[in-house]
Amino acid sequence: MFTIDHLGIAVKSLAAAKGIYQKLGLSISAEETVEAEQVRVVMVPVGESRLELLEPTSENSTIAKFIAKRGEGLHHVSLRVPDLAAAVERLKKDGVRLVSEEIKVGAGGHRYVFVHPSSAGGVLLELVEAKH
Ligand code: ZN
Repeated sequence: MFTIDHLGIAVKSLAAAKGIYQKLGLSISAEETVEAEQVRVVMVPVGESRLELLEPTSENSTIAKFIAKRGEGLHHVSLRVPDLAAAVERLKKDGVRLVSEEIKVGAGGHRYVFVHPSSAGGVLLELVEAKH
């Protein structure tokens, strides 16, 4: 089944960005650092989906570059797909531009790939595999 897994939001400060969700009474995960992406992350579960707040840990982080260029805000939309390898193969065959050719393994062992905004209406689209 396809669902919106999460929305990724680039922020300068997790501490500041968490505030609105705390005030709303939502629960917020512990902070986790993802070294490979040079970000610190918290997840805010909202119903079946989540918000992912991303704070850069280095000026070289893609999130730091995004904020420098466009300011804080929505960075990517993440769709959960039933079969990631099959989806990637289909997209490649159709000439869809991916940010990287291979499926990557992120925090918590989840598998993901990014579709380039030029192939997705200006939105950076993350595809993650549904957990079985
Ligand atoms: Zn994400």
